Amino acid sequence: RLGNVPTPPSTRAHCPYCAMQCGMLIGGTPDTPELAGDGDFPVNRGALCIKGWTSAGALAHADRLTSPLVRNAEGALAPATWDEALDRIADAIRALQARYGKDAIGVFGSGALTNEKAYLLGKFARVALGTRHIDYNGRFCMASAAAAANAAFGIDRGLPFPLADIAEAEAILLVGSNVAETLPPAMQYFDAQRRAGGHLIVVDPRRTPTAAAATLHLPLVPGTDGMLANGLLHVLIRDGLVDEAYIAQRTIGFAAVRGAVAACWPGRVERITGVPEADIVRAAHLLGRSRSAIVLTARGAEQQAQGVANTLAFINIALALGQVGRRGGGFGCLTGQGNGQGGREHGQKSDQLPGYRSLRDPQARAHVAAVWGVDPDALPPPGISAFELLDALGTDNGPRGLLVVGSNPAVSAPAAGRISKRLRALDLLVVCDFFVSETAALADVVLPVAMWAEEEGTITNLEGRVLRRRRVFAPPAGVRTDIEVLHLLASRLGHSKGFAFDSAAAVFEELGRASAGGAADYRGISHARLDAGEALYWPCPDEAHPGTPRLFASDFPTPDGCARFHVVTPTDPAEAPDREYPLYLTTGRVLAQYQSGTQTRRLRELVDRAPVPRVEVHPVTATQHGINAGDIVTVRTRRGEATLQVHVTATARVDTIFVPFHWGGLGSANLLTNPALDPTSKMPEFKVCAARLELRVPD
Ligand code: SF4
Repeated sequence: RLGNVPTPPSTRAHCPYCAMQCGMLIGGTPDTPELAGDGDFPVNRGALCIKGWTSAGALAHADRLTSPLVRNAEGALAPATWDEALDRIADAIRALQARYGKDAIGVFGSGALTNEKAYLLGKFARVALGTRHIDYNGRFCMASAAAAANAAFGIDRGLPFPLADIAEAEAILLVGSNVAETLPPAMQYFDAQRRAGGHLIVVDPRRTPTAAAATLHLPLVPGTDGMLANGLLHVLIRDGLVDEAYIAQRTIGFAAVRGAVAACWPGRVERITGVPEADIVRAAHLLGRSRSAIVLTARGAEQQAQGVANTLAFINIALALGQVGRRGGGFGCLTGQGNGQGGREHGQKSDQLPGYRSLRDPQARAHVAAVWGVDPDALPPPGISAFELLDALGTDNGPRGLLVVGSNPAVSAPAAGRISKRLRALDLLVVCDFFVSETAALADVVLPVAMWAEEEGTITNLEGRVLRRRRVFAPPAGVRTDIEVLHLLASRLGHSKGFAFDSAAAVFEELGRASAGGAADYRGISHARLDAGEALYWPCPDEAHPGTPRLFASDFPTPDGCARFHVVTPTDPAEAPDREYPLYLTTGRVLAQYQSGTQTRRLRELVDRAPVPRVEVHPVTATQHGINAGDIVTVRTRRGEATLQVHVTATARVDTIFVPFHWGGLGSANLLTNPALDPTSKMPEFKVCAARLELRVPD
């Protein structure tokens, strides 16, 4: 437990960063904030990681934007009034749409936005702009897990049970997640699980702190997750450890999967995945002989060009064990971004309307159009996915203008060098942010917006629990909330009425009506109920409904109530090592930085702990390349090169290097990553590509 307990009065708040949304108490002033973990909030129970307890340091940071910036005739971003900035944007939008059509403007949202902002951004794109081009950075985060969960269970909620259930599982299979560094307060549940005699099996190419704490670590070759899952299921079936009664009563499709994994015997799986046969068998036996077992996936398995298939292969295991819907058992996905769950529910995806409704469904279009007071036929058709949208910018087939809200795609998109060129090719780039991020630095107009502790709204955490975001401090003079910005822009575009909300609670009320009857039904949730202290998980269809902490206890929301197995035929990653690029490159996070680092790279305590972009290299690989700890190297792939400091560590595989993705500039991991997309989710393959290491000779 870290931080300074605020002197009363303090405000209950939540950390702005990851999907744990740890509860915090905040007091003091923006210049001298006092912050501590909220021991009464049942998810983090008072614990915070270093990012949480330093988070308030960004509020009054000297780099904070307090005035709009507009690019002037000399090509520099210069301070402007709000009217000047908004008029410039509206004039440019009108001119581009008059010349090229409605789709000339695109919108790029974020899994960091509140539910209200995500909802309003989707409405703004479809009603005020009339464009089909909207998607968001969650396409780089949660899209594969969402597609797999929808296919298997008929609904996508990251964890369909409270996080605390983890402590009750006898066995946990944790795939592609370094919880100890990415969700540190969640480790209390994993620790309790092992203290109670439970087993933790971690699947990860790196021996992370999480893997080091596990009963068993399976350090697979990057990109072989699906084959490993099939191998585990093969052993479970071979050794009679599947739940035949559950499979018969609650699922469909097992016979085909049984046939498909028959060829995935452990010796063959060892040759492909690099995981010893004995460990594959042991892991399967630990899972199959436990009364309760939870299978959890995260970005390691999901951020691949076969991310949906990988996730389905692990869902197959949870279903075959008969665990999904049982207390202390099941399948879940550990969401990444702060509102990674809510951000994917309310209509900022290219193919989606609020309530998880499909933009292709005539009934869904009619329902949402009625809430919005527009003609359903006036709603645009589905657009294209995040990377496809970014890669089309400024081309004959893509938008000529882009509005970016809460995202930094110049750093976070794969093949980031190419995407930066696309952003530069735009006729209009508008960025709403707190700081001049790498994307904002390329913009024509930058709008300074309120930060997390300066706005009202809601966030949905990794369990599907809806939380209140409260205004603790007034925003600095000159800063507006995103909700105000969208209203001001919509008004200039002739759509004042549908965007004139007097509060975030009013936006949420409309969101609830738009979501009513959809999979993610928020109709019964309100700011007032949350302020009264109710713990509300969606679906919550009416005001008397208590919310739904656990899903799938009796049936699945599919037409026949049964979950679906899926045959998974693993394929090679889009790019494998060869003579020219002999190493695997994988990317991820470190404890003391967050996402593209726009906030965390500005905080001294975090920079002290993670000061520069680095590459983790196994000692054997370092020796082979003649490099030492601290050397500056070039990591090169077919997309570009990055300049990184060497960290020699035996936690990496000999054939694999690891680069965190929190930095821009020459040290950006995404200059290297491969934008090969999953065919269903359109998730890029951040987690595996081929690379080479070169010692950088000083100039
Ligand atoms: Fe909690 Fe995540 Fe914030 Fe750390 S970054 S305090 S784990 S919400």
